[in-house]
Amino acid sequence: MSICQNLQQIKHRIQTIENQLPNKQTHVKLLAVSKTKPVSAILEAHQAGQLAFGENYVQEGVEKIQHFQQQGITLEWHFIGALQSNKTRLVAEHFDWVQTVERTKIADRLNEQRPYYQSPLNVLIQINVSDEQSKSGIQAKDMLALAEHITHLPNLKLRGLMAIPAPTKNPEEQKQAFQTMQNLFIQLQQALPSQQIDTLSMGMTDDMQMAIECGSTMVRIGTAIFGAREYV
Ligand SMILES: *Cc1c(COP(=O)(O)O)cnc(C)c1O
Repeated sequence: MSICQNLQQIKHRIQTIENQLPNKQTHVKLLAVSKTKPVSAILEAHQAGQLAFGENYVQEGVEKIQHFQQQGITLEWHFIGALQSNKTRLVAEHFDWVQTVERTKIADRLNEQRPYYQSPLNVLIQINVSDEQSKSGIQAKDMLALAEHITHLPNLKLRGLMAIPAPTKNPEEQKQAFQTMQNLFIQLQQALPSQQIDTLSMGMTDDMQMAIECGSTMVRIGTAIFGAREYV
């Protein structure tokens, strides 16, 4: 199947899941995860109407962003990979969103390095919901302190939370991780009522349905749109 057909199918799946939710007001945004995929694949997705793309590697992402800028094509770029402090400048200068903020030091650097002529960088705090499995993301108990810190940084705009739960075949375990995220998201909204906390980024190709059922507002889909990735 083509990228265009894959996109249509995934949008249809999202719509079907949304329609079965008790609260039908939700609208789940689709982020196309294009890491390791060529600009020709991104162009194909764009021509099929896709506007938001996620990249995991700074250098690769910046090259793609510059490519489309030179073509006069405006896309929305999300950084979704692990972010080291020596790479923050490129991210602050080129991306529209960073979904993986987990330390005040990284937030401070992004704030300092965001060019004054650009709109504030949209930020999600990455939460480590499945503990030992992965080292990325902060513990839930540290969420509010980091969130409050970010609200004082004028060149960043806190939009919500992101998580990558450890893969599991146990649906109960999966559900529990997503429900924990949903609760944290509500807690964050209640703690910061003056902020535009509207984004809960969770759900990938294999766990999209459960994520949406648990209140995801943004799914990050790679494989189901672009096919399997080849790593060198
Ligand atoms: C690669 C990646 C995705 C997409 O995963 P698929 O299983 O290919 O849909 C989503 N989120 C993050 C953070 C990723 O690194």
